[in-house]
Amino acid sequence: MRCREAPSPSFNERLLPISMIVLHYTGMKTAQEALDRLRDPAAEVSCHYFVDEDGTITRLVPDDKRAWHAGASHWRGVTDVNSASIGVEIVNPGHDHGYRAFPEPQIEAVIRLVAHLKDMYEITRGNIVGHSDVAPLRKRDPGELFPWHRLARLRLALPRPTKNLVDPMWGEAAFCLALERFGYDVSDRMAAIMAFQRRFRPELIDGEMDAECRMILLALLLPRPQGDD
Ligand SMILES: [Zn+2]
Repeated sequence: MRCREAPSPSFNERLLPISMIVLHYTGMKTAQEALDRLRDPAAEVSCHYFVDEDGTITRLVPDDKRAWHAGASHWRGVTDVNSASIGVEIVNPGHDHGYRAFPEPQIEAVIRLVAHLKDMYEITRGNIVGHSDVAPLRKRDPGELFPWHRLARLRLALPRPTKNLVDPMWGEAAFCLALERFGYDVSDRMAAIMAFQRRFRPELIDGEMDAECRMILLALLLPRPQGDD
């Protein structure tokens, strides 16, 4: 994997093996501002990889170290997400500074990087997630403009189910149980539903569980002939 090096001092030792990839957007006005912050010891934040809009990949923290990108998070029973994951920051101003489409060279670089990491650490598709999936109450990144379908087509993320959908007619409590079974922290129901929508039904993110959300979630939970790999 060809990349530039720009070491960050903000890391410590992993307490868990690598089993996840967490994708972020930088959420700052410029790429340089974001990179400086991720390397500033006082900020106490970092990531493993930083992907610029032109597709340049920069490594800040070695894979075997625990970078500080996820904060208080939860996914499939893991609460120390930093210990279990590789953190990838994707340059984009984000919702607060002019959220915009991710340019093609940047997406191609993210795809190359995720493919490499998935293969190297045998990470399952269901464990390649957005920051908003692991911290629904606090985070919206990488956001609804991130082309998860492009990754899914290459088996680098779970696809949005489209075939043979059946409405299980769950009420909201049952829906949230199913959402928890899938991996989300559902302590705040509305936040969890919005995170799920942002990831799997991005054209309508309203925090309201509806028939389409139920059908998508059921299809994701049904045993898949090809397995969750
Ligand atoms: Zn983030």
